[in-house]
Amino acid sequence: MPELPDLEVLKDNLTPRAVGHTVRGVEVRSPAFLKTAQPHISELVGREVTGFARRGKYLILLVSEGLRLVLHLMRWGWIWHGSSSYAPTRATIFRLSLDDGNDIRLIEPGPQRLARGWVLREGDPGPLAELGWEPLSLDFTEDALRGLLSGKRRQLKKILIDQRLIAGIGNAYADEILFVARLSPFRYAHTLSPEEITRLHRAIPDTLTWAISEMKKRLGGDLFEKEVRDFLWVHGRAGKPCRVCGTPIEEVLLGGQRTDYCPPCQAVNQPPG
Ligand SMILES: [Zn+2]
Repeated sequence: MPELPDLEVLKDNLTPRAVGHTVRGVEVRSPAFLKTAQPHISELVGREVTGFARRGKYLILLVSEGLRLVLHLMRWGWIWHGSSSYAPTRATIFRLSLDDGNDIRLIEPGPQRLARGWVLREGDPGPLAELGWEPLSLDFTEDALRGLLSGKRRQLKKILIDQRLIAGIGNAYADEILFVARLSPFRYAHTLSPEEITRLHRAIPDTLTWAISEMKKRLGGDLFEKEVRDFLWVHGRAGKPCRVCGTPIEEVLLGGQRTDYCPPCQAVNQPPG
């Protein structure tokens, strides 16, 4: 599933392709896709694309006069950009045609139709109202994290992926952040020392911005069909040697989520220092 770094790169790489162009047409090809009836999606037509934004795991297409199309790619969705003359495949669930002869399409392979869209007027947060802290925002201070963890008898992994607390981190980057912070995914939030909270707070933006830069090195201005994650420390590397200590990365199910971690590097009881 795309997470904050993937969507941030997608946002940046879509911007030069679409901004300044006028929407020529829209086509919804899956009945479950659109979650709003008003404003009607056809209101996008004739408006100029003014930018892209991201909030949590949502990608936002901004058009003139304050209208927005908010997209959630869910598990398998990805964005295609190319000539409108190519016939859409069965996996195309939404297409937006621009006046330069290109389409932006939401593709969802497989039988499930999980990706969703919302057309919103300025000031209407829609699904974004439920989101927690934006982890790359300067407002997300160490105090904010401390407040969020305080008294929570929940495991760190579960806290990091809870979009109502912190928005944009999913299964993969929660594992990466905990590795960078040298904290066990099983640790309970309320047991963290002040020094461990400092470490976790630093690891969150550090890991996400590092991932964005690694993705950009590999993709340049290209879009992607599948997340680029070959550089990760632990997630998706079960059984392979830890790049720090050489111990095989372990995989467990934690709250139904595949969780990869290095037991010695992320020991529950860390020696001081
Ligand atoms: Zn290790």
